[in-house]
Amino acid sequence: MKTTMRQKESNLMYRKDSSNKKCTTFHGPKCQGANARLTHGLNPMATSKTPSGLKKVRSTYFRALLLTVLSCLLLAPSATAATDPDKPTLEITFDDTAIRELIALAKAKDSSEASVDNWLNLPANKYILSVGEAEQNLTRDQFRANAIAEINGTATPQTQSPTDIGCLWMSSTQDYTAMLNGFEDSAEARIRRIASRLAKFSPPGTHIKETVYLHLGGDWDAVNDNGDIYVNIRFWHDLHRPSWDGINMIVAHESMHTVQNMAYGNPRDNSSATPAFVTAMSKIQREGTARYVENDTDPEAYATSSYGFYERAITSETYRSFPTDIKKLETVYAACFPKFDVDKYTEAYVDGVDTGGPFYDVGYGMARAIDERLGRKRLIDTIIHGPKDFFAEYAGLCATDSSLPKLPADVLKAVADMPVKLDTSSPAGQSTSPVTKGEKNH
Ligand SMILES: [Zn+2]
Repeated sequence: MKTTMRQKESNLMYRKDSSNKKCTTFHGPKCQGANARLTHGLNPMATSKTPSGLKKVRSTYFRALLLTVLSCLLLAPSATAATDPDKPTLEITFDDTAIRELIALAKAKDSSEASVDNWLNLPANKYILSVGEAEQNLTRDQFRANAIAEINGTATPQTQSPTDIGCLWMSSTQDYTAMLNGFEDSAEARIRRIASRLAKFSPPGTHIKETVYLHLGGDWDAVNDNGDIYVNIRFWHDLHRPSWDGINMIVAHESMHTVQNMAYGNPRDNSSATPAFVTAMSKIQREGTARYVENDTDPEAYATSSYGFYERAITSETYRSFPTDIKKLETVYAACFPKFDVDKYTEAYVDGVDTGGPFYDVGYGMARAIDERLGRKRLIDTIIHGPKDFFAEYAGLCATDSSLPKLPADVLKAVADMPVKLDTSSPAGQSTSPVTKGEKNH
């Protein structure tokens, strides 16, 4: 589990330069009053400290996708509702600058120190470097060397393993460009799809503005850091059949964590038994609910062997284990009570959460049962009130429906005894919630 608490990267530099951006505004039939801004041809380096000559050259070959849709997320197409502050809103900007620029530098054979420095300072790369520094598996010098090798055409999957956090090797820059262009063409529709899905699970008054950075490098598929999302294109291009299938549901999953952070917070404290227990129960709720939200973001079938196909199949298969996996909550309880054992707790937590472990399908099964039997409003209430409410609702269902797998009795008692919130809960919107599936965080 990665837990980082970094300040949100500013993306203002990408919006200051309006010299050559194209804006379109449209109003969807279900979204009157919404604004959609589709921006192309923006020179993202224009506001950075770049030698003027270099900047001029760059503007001819840099192209970035910066697409923002402010969706009013309305189910009812009412102009008055569009101004209702309780109506959830989601504003997403997609930013593929980190990949586009590396390809542009390779085309220009520009591995000058200034150019590579500017590239390393892009928000997505700065985030990768911050994780690399925290986990001591990537330095700026290593990342720079990998970038220069890719620019000079000497990078190979042997010198830069695709599973390495610093890997910048591209099998084909043409293929990557085509994939980014395909994404650009579909981005508007994707944002609407994601926004629509999230609206169905967001408490009233939820307003989210996020940037989704597409990048190379990183040992995650997608991660939410302080409300921005970092997506490693390699999972969609190299590691599976090239396709963007699944990107909508994974962005929906990560965005759901921001909804959860804003509604309740993200408790993370393993200093003693009760906070650790609350933390684990919260994590199970968070990941299970986010997986439940993600699953039907796209109603249509994904292409066979695409990343989305693979990921959604995992959800379906692991759900079969819900009745047996729910018993594994016992290991978390036993690590906390009667005497807290931090090593046992960490082991149970890691086994249950990392690599998309069994606690994902436990939380998913519980969220699904609450939604299907008690309704969407009740599920949203649990997002607001947190794990104590979530587990209590599920336990209540079990009392009246013997077909549902029951929570272990001592877990149930510990949940009844635990506080609604921890004093140390992260402030709203300030927490990180990476999820792991295999080597990736989701
Ligand atoms: Zn997650």
